[in-house]
Amino acid sequence: MDHFLYRDGALYAEDVPISEIAAAVGTPFYVYSTATLLRHFKLFDDALEGTEHLVCYAMKAASNQAILKTLAQAGAGMDVVSAGEYLRAKAAGVPGDKIVFSGVGKTADEIRTALTGGIRQFNVESEPEMEVINAVALELGVIAPITVRVNPDVDAKTHAKIATGKSENKFGIPIARASEVYARAASLPGLEVIGIDVHIGSQLTELEPFEMAYTKVAELAERLRSEGHNIRRLDLGGGLGIPYTRSNDAPPLPVEYGALIKKTLGHLGCEIEIEPGRLIAGNAGLMVSKVIYVKSGEDRDFLILDGAMNDLIRPAMYEAHHDIVAVNEPMPGVEQRPYDIVGPVCESGDTFAKERNMPPLEAGDLIAFRSAGAYGAVMSSEYNTRPLIPEVLVNGDQFAVIRERPSFDEIINRDTIPSWL
Ligand SMILES: *Cc1c(COP(=O)(O)O)cnc(C)c1O
Repeated sequence: MDHFLYRDGALYAEDVPISEIAAAVGTPFYVYSTATLLRHFKLFDDALEGTEHLVCYAMKAASNQAILKTLAQAGAGMDVVSAGEYLRAKAAGVPGDKIVFSGVGKTADEIRTALTGGIRQFNVESEPEMEVINAVALELGVIAPITVRVNPDVDAKTHAKIATGKSENKFGIPIARASEVYARAASLPGLEVIGIDVHIGSQLTELEPFEMAYTKVAELAERLRSEGHNIRRLDLGGGLGIPYTRSNDAPPLPVEYGALIKKTLGHLGCEIEIEPGRLIAGNAGLMVSKVIYVKSGEDRDFLILDGAMNDLIRPAMYEAHHDIVAVNEPMPGVEQRPYDIVGPVCESGDTFAKERNMPPLEAGDLIAFRSAGAYGAVMSSEYNTRPLIPEVLVNGDQFAVIRERPSFDEIINRDTIPSWL
């Protein structure tokens, strides 16, 4: 459920007409709903009620500070994967003891940044990384709390580019080697082993892979405890999928996911962390774009938009589907027709949808990509020297620009010309 609904024939974000935002900020732009962000956070928080837990929003999904602050004020922690994300979370007011640091290749500088500013824990991804965290902690005279990310070798049954829990993936250490790695961690004086971390992939649409992974984590926790480790926190990653279309089967609900966590791991009495990103932000955001031209092709018509693959790369990168709707609600019974919906970038990959049925549209009409809140703005670029598009946050009947569109001068002046030219 989200808060982007038609009212009197026009698409709204909460109580604000999309067309009003478009008139104020120009197109294309991203718009997020506060109510939807908070609703999704609360679904997870409630799903773990009765268990000591922290929902750490995976901020790589949508990292604008206004979004972080909205969630942090509701009680969320943050899952970060770089020093930049760490500093952004701090800038948004998130305390270090609510920030967990994930990511496959943390550099010594990044580790130093987090240890200096305060960190809840590092989720360690390899033995060499563990040695570096230990060395930096000793250098700073602190102890770094860690979990080790284990790779449970389960098939997440998701798109290959976002599956992370198979033994062939680069993530974590093989669960079979966990005893050895934990023994090494326990011997390093700069580290304190506090738990286990696992994250098997993104956009999972079934509970079964989670169940297989969490069952393995439960067995591992018992084994590590018997080997003398004080396992008291389990970080279970993110990955619960969202419905990208209204027609297909809905993925499991957070409440079902929470019940599975309690069933597979509840007996251990550990504190639980989860790191949802997509489910919190995905359906809390739209990308709004304008039709520039309608071009008749030989066997199809093209809608050429002012938004492009650099603004929303998911279709080009993951063959992702986004529902696309007209901002002016189509009259009931209007005959739809198929369009290829494309951006202006010089790549055939700059195609958002092929033969998509839409109501008849004209140049100047606004359309909205649904489910664009996660892995949308954060993955955008200035390819073709197209400015990053603005982000807008709606809260009830108010809206605010939370990232401005840069001017062409700002973009161009970022280059520096060497003295010999
Ligand atoms: C990407 C990622 C997440 C979030 O995944 P979603 O599918 O957006 O919920 C959580 N944890 C880690 C370690 C990740 O890499």
